[in-house]
Amino acid sequence: MSIASVSVFCGSSPGTDPRFGEMAAQLGTHLGERDIKLVFGGSDAGLMGIVADAHLAAGGHVIGVYPDETFSRDVSHDGLSELHRVSSMHERKATMYELSDAVIALPGGYGTLEELFEALTWTQLGIHALPAALLDVDGFWDPFVAFLDGCVEAGFLKEANRALLGVASSPGDALTALERADVTYREKWSG
Ligand code: AMP
Repeated sequence: MSIASVSVFCGSSPGTDPRFGEMAAQLGTHLGERDIKLVFGGSDAGLMGIVADAHLAAGGHVIGVYPDETFSRDVSHDGLSELHRVSSMHERKATMYELSDAVIALPGGYGTLEELFEALTWTQLGIHALPAALLDVDGFWDPFVAFLDGCVEAGFLKEANRALLGVASSPGDALTALERADVTYREKWSG
């Protein structure tokens, strides 16, 4: 499938290793140069701000979706192409999915994982059909991938649904994985 817009989920912190920020910048630049719209959480904090700044610097179109009353201080990015202000985290995620053709997760914490898992779960249930990819930095995602493979082995996750999530170590490879992904809905409860 061809991809015109990507939701990027990532840490609202920069992380301890400068390579996290470097990859966030590479991703923003790569998407911007390929004219792929960036959809993200709308904050200028941590890796989120780095992706958005790099995308804007590459001439890209950045759409932030920011939950106005969720955070104790407003850290919305003030230089975006579009900023959608929404009233809840639920509305925010639904809006991000609607505006996107695919999902990429950079390193992050609970928020990143929560967004990624919801996007995957909704594809698994046939609510939407968003391919997803992890963009790895120095093995950050290895334990997570091993855990998911363990879920398959333990019979809780179908191989076909496990395959909804690719892993890549460069932005170009992540996009290739997303373009080739098979997001065909499969009945969750059969077998
Ligand atoms: P975390 O991985 O826990 O840092 O959470 C990052 C994800 O949660 C991002 O992709 C955002 O969508 C959301 N998020 C967390 N903190 C913020 C914030 N201060 N402003 C906007 N979004 C945030």
